Amino acid sequence: MVDQASEQQTVDVVVVGAGFSGLYLLQRLRGLGLSAVAFEAADDVGGTWYWNRYPGARCDIPTTDYAYSFDPALEQEWTWSEKYATQPEILAYLQFVTDRYDLRRDIRFSTRVEAAKWDDATSRWRVRTDRGDDVECRFFVMATGCLSLPKKPDIEGADSFAGETYLTGLWPHEGVDFTGKRVAVIGTGSSGIQSIPLIAEQAAQLTVFQRTPNFSIPAGNGPAPEDRLKELAADRDTYREAAKRSRGGIPNEVTEITAAMAPDDVRRQRFESAWSSGELFQILGVFADQGVNPESNQIVAEMIREKIRAVVHDPDTADALCPKDHYFGTKRPCLDTNYYQTFNLPHVRLVDLRKTPITRITETGVESTDDTFDVDAIVFATGFDAMTGPLFAVDIHGHDGLALREKWADGPSTYLGLTSVGFPNFFTITGPGSPSVLSNMAVSIEQHVEWVTDAIAHLRDQGYDVIEPTPTAEAGWNQHVDDCASITLHPTANSWYMGANVPGKPRVFYPYIGGVDSYRAACEEVVDRGYLGFTLSGPAGTQCNDGVVRRIQPDVALVLELMASLNLPPLESMPATDARAFMSMMGAQRPPGPAVAEVVDGELPGAATSLPYRLYRPPTPGPHPVIAYFHGGGWVLGDLDSDDPLCRDICVRCDAVVVSVNYRHAPEDRFPAAADDAFAAAQWIAANATELGGIPGQLAVAGWSAGGNIAAVATQLARDAGGPEIVGQLLLCPVTDSDLSRTSYVENGENYILTKSLMEWFWDHYADPADRTEVKAAPLRGDLTGLPPAVVVTADFDPLRDEGTAYADALAAAGVDVRHIRARGHTHTSLTMVDVVISGAPVRAELTQELRSLFRAPVLS
Ligand SMILES: Cc1cc2nc3c(=O)[nH]c(=O)nc-3n(C[C@H](O)[C@H](O)[C@H](O)COP(=O)(O)OP(=O)(O)OC[C@H]3O[C@@H](n4cnc5c(N)ncnc54)[C@H](O)[C@@H]3O)c2cc1C
Repeated sequence: MVDQASEQQTVDVVVVGAGFSGLYLLQRLRGLGLSAVAFEAADDVGGTWYWNRYPGARCDIPTTDYAYSFDPALEQEWTWSEKYATQPEILAYLQFVTDRYDLRRDIRFSTRVEAAKWDDATSRWRVRTDRGDDVECRFFVMATGCLSLPKKPDIEGADSFAGETYLTGLWPHEGVDFTGKRVAVIGTGSSGIQSIPLIAEQAAQLTVFQRTPNFSIPAGNGPAPEDRLKELAADRDTYREAAKRSRGGIPNEVTEITAAMAPDDVRRQRFESAWSSGELFQILGVFADQGVNPESNQIVAEMIREKIRAVVHDPDTADALCPKDHYFGTKRPCLDTNYYQTFNLPHVRLVDLRKTPITRITETGVESTDDTFDVDAIVFATGFDAMTGPLFAVDIHGHDGLALREKWADGPSTYLGLTSVGFPNFFTITGPGSPSVLSNMAVSIEQHVEWVTDAIAHLRDQGYDVIEPTPTAEAGWNQHVDDCASITLHPTANSWYMGANVPGKPRVFYPYIGGVDSYRAACEEVVDRGYLGFTLSGPAGTQCNDGVVRRIQPDVALVLELMASLNLPPLESMPATDARAFMSMMGAQRPPGPAVAEVVDGELPGAATSLPYRLYRPPTPGPHPVIAYFHGGGWVLGDLDSDDPLCRDICVRCDAVVVSVNYRHAPEDRFPAAADDAFAAAQWIAANATELGGIPGQLAVAGWSAGGNIAAVATQLARDAGGPEIVGQLLLCPVTDSDLSRTSYVENGENYILTKSLMEWFWDHYADPADRTEVKAAPLRGDLTGLPPAVVVTADFDPLRDEGTAYADALAAAGVDVRHIRARGHTHTSLTMVDVVISGAPVRAELTQELRSLFRAPVLS
């Protein structure tokens, strides 16, 4: 399949870039016996560490971890001198690696790849460079880095300055001496924050122009950390494996402590410990929920602001340095050495561009709206056109001349961040949609390079020569990348992760935030499932296992993982009373749900006995519409507490009084006790609407799971009895039938909390087999004409999905106004996990909006 290097201009693989990624690619490809050439715009290896030679340039991942791990012998031969190595040391390391594996002979330096075109006729790429190379190859790999295209300053007059100008990302090799000079630094991202203290040491006068203050923590640099070195020495393989299976690419303890769970002293102690560690992943993980929960995030952010105020003497300067416009972590936080202290120096001044923006750069310096700054040198620390910039800088065309820039005009579209439909045999190392810049990139790069080279070897070994993702797989991955970002606070920030630093760049979240561990698992699963989502073709024919590798919502997956790790006994193995006690114990640990104006417990007459109810009143002035709510629990479990957070959520979102009714349970009271109680409760609530603070004639019924079952039954009974008037029914993952053979039972009958065997247990407790086809047990089998409008919610990974869908379809067929919401990536229980499963919130927003709209609709007679 793969060509041998028959002539100079034909190789198996063209690699673009000779940084961490390109170098390892060459080493691996050679190991596979493939011919490869790498083109590198610089005149030496190193990538990031070749170009970024500004003062203070260092890594911000401990160097024990920010290094190759593919060869244990290599690790023995290199010793890092510091916890965070300097640019010269990292560059020396990459040069050492290059020489150790004799990689230079496959690299053409000072050569920029300008264009690459796929030829459908030959199934090869043609790659052109600025030095006239015209190379044909089977595989084309962009190892061009995420942060290799510096963003040029977009300030009026930038070219007119007569003094020296520097871009941190293109720093002169001979270094710069600022001694005695008046210097301006524009930009306070990572590069600015690293370089400012050192420039201040030399400059006679330093003016720092800051648009957005960044959170920075002291690096506490020094010798390589003892604890990590010890762990590595004791068991290198375990250490490296732990890094690969970690969230960020560094072995770190992950906390399950949320801010809400921690008393003040614990919060403070956790924060101080992270602060003094000088490690990004520690400060990003003070609380389990700080990346997703605004309140939790603010606690950490405020503690950092306290630290800034404690260091910086001038209160106005301190205030200007305190970030307030973004959540901590939603822009890349920095590690510094004496950054904030620098602003106490008499010759250093901060200009807050939020208050006094730069108007232009002149021949002599910088002009702001209220001052003029004459300087000898300007340092632009203005960042990068990240992730897509270096890819778009090459004119890449795939099938039928499709341009990558065009295909990605509205944002990148990749499968696994590695490949893209329309671009066969094309790979991006750390591309958009992969963990890349959110991770220890050394670990991510190794994983990408190994995946790509393994894929190429697989093709060769199996008699294929072309690999391309399918549209289904790619769309699914894009959705998953978006789902992962959506549950975090990240999309709220104007960050370069979101493309916000480059005018006109699409605002999407570029990297994959699901974690190095989950990402690696997805990549491995793709391979294990026969290159799921890829079409492989060649002399051996064509193979395609189409599909989506991650369909479940990421936070739902976490809950499932957690539940699996607890190894809990199945509920159906317990007597009902024990199962109830167990559920109460589990429920006690949940967040409480939103605050409501009032909660009142009372009793109402049921079909046979009085029933406890709990009324939730929304914070707005009444009277309100009323919702009679019936909890889930398979007619056996559940009570007023079990669905309390959900009831609060529905109450606030619907702006309605919710009356949650604790109907009788099986096995003590079997079929049709629960259904009869639901109907009786609806009658009583309707009759007492005014006393309850409700609007007469504005009653809806709602229920989840078995509660949805009896809500549906009560609605049918109300229609048959000529009242009470019900304006709408909300059926959340309802039981509508007793047929347990539907496809969703086959697909989702195990592993998603509500199992088929648990449903069988519920039915056995509730109803005799002969009763299960009764309409009061299986409302799907009833007459559905003349029913009030319904909001039916089904979840992808619910055994009950298909009977919910069947009910929605049957209602529609019977002429009922139905809004069917399909909760993508959710399980039977996940939508009800208020403030735990964040991805459930938009679904609840949608379903409550639909329900709310029914209250305004004309009342059915
Ligand atoms: C200042 C700075 C500090 C960083 N610190 C860390 C850190 O502490 N930890 C971490 O994980 N990551 C860090 N990063 C991210 C860093 O980019 C990666 O860790 C890693 O170095 C990327 O390696 P790479 O080979 O993928 O890309 P790069 O190192 O960016 O190399 C890409 C190479 O491709 C070349 N190239 C691009 N386009 C072309 C073309 N068309 N033709 C020919 N050649 C081309 C470039 O010249 C460059 O040499 C940092 C980045 C910066 C800018």
